[in-house]
Amino acid sequence: MFVDIHTHIDNQSVIRIVDECGEKILTTVGVHPWEVESVEEASTPLPCASVEMTAAVGEVGLDKAHRDTFEKQVEVFRAMVELSESYRKPMIVHCVRAYSELIAMRKSAKAKMPWVIHGFNGSVETMLQLLRHDMYISLGEVLYRNEPKAAEILKNLPVERLFLETDVSGRNIKDVYAKAATLIECEVDFLCKQIFENYGRLETTNGNTGR
Ligand SMILES: [Zn+2]
Repeated sequence: MFVDIHTHIDNQSVIRIVDECGEKILTTVGVHPWEVESVEEASTPLPCASVEMTAAVGEVGLDKAHRDTFEKQVEVFRAMVELSESYRKPMIVHCVRAYSELIAMRKSAKAKMPWVIHGFNGSVETMLQLLRHDMYISLGEVLYRNEPKAAEILKNLPVERLFLETDVSGRNIKDVYAKAATLIECEVDFLCKQIFENYGRLETTNGNTGR
């Protein structure tokens, strides 16, 4: 079982679970930080019904590479956090050069739902701070683009907090698992089992599972 915690299918952000029998696609809903300008009312950016039906709130976040909209991003993200908390949905988070703001917002909102920081590419120090605030780390392209850095991240990241993803790379999620397993020096099966457990932990926070 391979969990691809974040990818896109037909312009939709999804979680994809692949096994021998096929695949399961779970949609996520959210306003991406690059798209906040399209939102008219930052405090009510999404229809509640769509949040109730979804597997996670995502892809949402903060991106300082898009400085001109940062203030609006913060407003929209705050509303996303509220939706995630009130509907008990985990969040798939995009964060570029705004980790301290992200942590501050998690603290001020007293957010309890799990946040998965997707496409993580920051320093080990930043990662340790995110872990201290109960976040999960998802790795994808960094495994290929910067192997020494990825190995360093993996060395310091408890496997209980790890996810893997393909995002927009077009890679096969099985290859991403194989790549991570090589860097960790573990079996792919071990990663499959562990990450599926991590995914189960996200899901049990989800109000829709009825547990
Ligand atoms: Zn994405």
